[in-house]
Amino acid sequence: MTTPTASPLNKTVAEARRLFDSGKTRPMEARVGRLRALRAMLAEHQPAFEAALWNDLHKGPGEAQLTEINVTLAEISHTLRHLRRWARPRRAPAPAALWPARARLVSEPLGVVLVIAPWNYPVQLLLNPLVGALAAGNAAVLKPSELAPATSALIARLVPRYFADGAVRVVEGGIPETTELLAQQFDHIVFTGSGTVGRIVMRAAAEHLTPVTLELGGKSPVWFDDDAQLHRAARRLAWAKFTNAGQTCVAPDYVMTTPDRIPALVDALQDAITDMWGINPRTSGDYGRIVDERQFDRLAALLHGTEAAIGGQCDRAERYIAPTVVTVPTLDRPAIGPEAAHPLLREEIFGPILPILAVDSAEQAAQVINGWDKPLALYVFTSRARTRRLFEQHTSSGAVVHDAGLIHVAAAGLPFGGVGASGIGAYHGAYSWRAFSHLKPVLRKPHTMDTLRLAQPPFTRRGLRFVKRLM
Ligand code: NAD
Repeated sequence: MTTPTASPLNKTVAEARRLFDSGKTRPMEARVGRLRALRAMLAEHQPAFEAALWNDLHKGPGEAQLTEINVTLAEISHTLRHLRRWARPRRAPAPAALWPARARLVSEPLGVVLVIAPWNYPVQLLLNPLVGALAAGNAAVLKPSELAPATSALIARLVPRYFADGAVRVVEGGIPETTELLAQQFDHIVFTGSGTVGRIVMRAAAEHLTPVTLELGGKSPVWFDDDAQLHRAARRLAWAKFTNAGQTCVAPDYVMTTPDRIPALVDALQDAITDMWGINPRTSGDYGRIVDERQFDRLAALLHGTEAAIGGQCDRAERYIAPTVVTVPTLDRPAIGPEAAHPLLREEIFGPILPILAVDSAEQAAQVINGWDKPLALYVFTSRARTRRLFEQHTSSGAVVHDAGLIHVAAAGLPFGGVGASGIGAYHGAYSWRAFSHLKPVLRKPHTMDTLRLAQPPFTRRGLRFVKRLM
């Protein structure tokens, strides 16, 4: 299990393993203590976290609290409230064929969990999986994103103070460091990021037969036909899309509606944007920036030659892209995916550009969704139960949310994860605890009333008949 050479990074992982092997992460009191330490780290340094998020992403304090700090604190509280119940050994049924026997399910930690996080929610997506890993009694190694350097540095500075025994360790860095980390043996890897890197992670994990949770992305669609709730729906849609300047894995990626609804929807989206971020969102303290020039250039290229119905202004020096809405005509080629006619429909946008695609009906929208990779989330704004059922039953996605966007991420009682190309496995709350635990069946068969003899040679016809009946 120990690593072949002794680079500082190998040493970090080896020490985390040694601590785990010492048994110190396992007792319930130790788990609870570590969750409290994590809570204290966030609560005592909230202004520092807000400042780091502002530096990295121009994330205003309100958004930083809501989408990064509070959501992680809520996950910790939820876990502290329920952990003892989740972790209690549970009696399990022993089948009649094995009687007399007793069965229990006992949970045990997996070992050392590696968490690799992206830059877009650099606190939440690093520390939320950590909550589950610690709750399950594991040690952890955290790899924050190098593209959110202020947050990465802050976490690397604070973690050793709050986890002085080394149950949680931080390795900072980019591709070389992550590659080196992935060569080590872990007992579980949680990766949040792109499908391309997800494949690299899974290949590396396969070498050690390490299980993975892959939280990936994709194009999360929206269906809209709720004319009666137009303004409310548009506000929720604009909020879900333009929070963090659209750099959210579950951000609505594109909207589908019928052609007649588009003008009113565009007007309502414009009202909502102005209401939330003002006439000029560039001057709003609540509107984010694109993380770096590379992402800015990618997004600006998507807009090149396209006339925006709303927004469209780009400023490279500030990495600012206005909340932008683009209407896209109906086309006969595959509507989304690499073959799509419009560049905005070929890949995950991951920025503040919202294409509206005209389709004939909800049925056609479902076909569009089913025409490419399964998305991470699907948002349906309709007043018709039949339409809700259509999307729930005839499409597949990580989650479905009706009449809102993003909010399922904050529901600690629900599993959060993708399906197919949008991810493998799920976490949050009990699902995190489950993902980072091994549920071990423990069976006891008393020596007296030795019914096992019936399954042992020499077999008799009567004995076999009896066992068959029991089974
Ligand atoms: P990314 O895949 O580029 O990077 C994620 C992490 O992988 C970083 O820590 C990075 O250092 C590391 N990494 C990058 N290249 C690597 C390589 N070649 N080898 C090893 N490690 C490497 O993702 P990103 O750009 O930070 O985030 C954007 C993507 O993440 C989007 O696709 C988005 O949808 C997805 N995402 C998903 C979720 C989710 O919860 N499902 C949340 C946020 C983002």
